[in-house]
Amino acid sequence: MADLKTKDRMKIKRTEMPLRDPEVRKHDFDEVPVGFTMEEAVLEASRCIDCGKPHCVEGCPVNINIPGFLKALEKGDMQSSINILMNTNQLPSICGRVCPQDQQCELVCIVGKKNKPVSIGNLERFVADYAMEHNLIPDFTPTEAMEVDQKIAIAGSGPAGLTVAAELRKLGYKVKIFEALHKPGGVLFYGIPRFRLPAQVIDNEINNLKKMGVEVELNALIGRTYTVDALFEEGYDAVMIGTGAGLPKMLGLPGENLKGVFAANEFLTRVNLMRADKFPEYITPVIVGKDVVIIGAGNTAMDAARTAMRFEPNSVTIVYRRSRDEAPARTEELLHAEQEGVKFLFLNNPVELIGDEEYNLKEMKVIKMELGEPDEGGRRRPIAIKGSEYNIKCDMMVSALGFGVNPLITSTTKGIDVNSWGAIVVDENGMTTKEGVFAAGDIITGGSTVIMAMGQAKTAAKGIDRYLKAKREVK
Ligand SMILES: Cc1cc2nc3c(=O)[nH]c(=O)nc-3n(C[C@H](O)[C@H](O)[C@H](O)COP(=O)(O)OP(=O)(O)OC[C@H]3O[C@@H](n4cnc5c(N)ncnc54)[C@H](O)[C@@H]3O)c2cc1C
Repeated sequence: MADLKTKDRMKIKRTEMPLRDPEVRKHDFDEVPVGFTMEEAVLEASRCIDCGKPHCVEGCPVNINIPGFLKALEKGDMQSSINILMNTNQLPSICGRVCPQDQQCELVCIVGKKNKPVSIGNLERFVADYAMEHNLIPDFTPTEAMEVDQKIAIAGSGPAGLTVAAELRKLGYKVKIFEALHKPGGVLFYGIPRFRLPAQVIDNEINNLKKMGVEVELNALIGRTYTVDALFEEGYDAVMIGTGAGLPKMLGLPGENLKGVFAANEFLTRVNLMRADKFPEYITPVIVGKDVVIIGAGNTAMDAARTAMRFEPNSVTIVYRRSRDEAPARTEELLHAEQEGVKFLFLNNPVELIGDEEYNLKEMKVIKMELGEPDEGGRRRPIAIKGSEYNIKCDMMVSALGFGVNPLITSTTKGIDVNSWGAIVVDENGMTTKEGVFAAGDIITGGSTVIMAMGQAKTAAKGIDRYLKAKREVK
């Protein structure tokens, strides 16, 4: 393969990820993509033409050396491949599965100009899974000589908290993550369903960090169990806030207090974290209706719809006020939802929820929409078509409209400024307006993506290192 000419590489067809049969998979929570074989992975990696200016690297928020890990894979040098990958990304099995590659690295892949882009995400997943299975994960534990006598407390164990922990532990700092829930991983665990991201994959990557010496304390709510100031008093030299944006947003519709109305976070947490799908074996129940309607068309909406589908209702419908082209979900998630039988009512918007005499939701009034001029975000603005309202059957509604940030830490700590909608304000080093307190991830941006949270976490880790080095020099 190594001798292949560029023109021949360009002709190789993209290997598509094999998927489980939709009719089978929609009844269980097992992972949907099957994964590449070694032969498929090597063939797909050989499509990379190792172009002089790899835009894919710039397209990746953590700047993975993509051609580097692909070329090592093509040669069958799996150790080099995983070393290159993990040099910049500590969570490759996770990112390979959930990153929006179609909007990032693969979008700018030069092969994609004439052919389909190289399947970078699926290859990242392949290399990372292979390395895990064959014990090839590089050891980033700092040597004794590198150990630094300064410690950092991290609030939240989502991708932001995990990345800051990994980056700082590599440099020899003592790092402890405080997580409010009884499982680490943040949205990776409680939001993204197991058929997209198996629990074992998350556990494996978190265990790699623990092996480096990252400590994790569960059931510890910063702002209640310990305040930020108490952490400093306990001897921490810096605090990093990576508590995400988990506050549900509702629509404010008439009828929203009816039985059968959920926020996506609650529904997904019940199933993913509390295993309500296995009730009564697990103690948390969930009641899924017969005609389920999900509002929104992002990843959260697809996850809620596909999760509901696994409880075997009569119908699951996504209602979205724009068209398919504007849907923010990963292309793959939309496709998988369609394959599993989720219906889509694009260009429709809910206006009212209608209940029966016992306050159970039974119908939703929707209105048809059309698209007008683009708004400030560049997406065409949806406009309601007067008089086009009609009712659809609906005994369960799940609102998947994004999330707000939880004010617990900022309301219990003086001096951390927030913006107009409550997100923590940071400078170019990731430091908040309170000295020694840093923040990264959804808590500074609102709901975003795993890899964006990781990119900001790297900035914060560099900022913390600089800050603590300066403190050491003063001593
Ligand atoms: C259902 C769903 C599906 C998604 N799908 C994708 C996808 O496919 N691809 C993608 O790239 N992105 C996806 N996202 C977005 C992505 O998961 C988030 O952008 C990312 O997880 C943000 O990382 P974070 O570390 O900032 O926060 P989070 O992942 O939210 O983690 C924050 C952690 O902090 C903990 N915490 C909160 N408050 C406290 C406190 N006071 N003290 C201690 N701990 C606290 C929380 O329990 C949580 O564990 C999805 C989001 C959702 C909700």
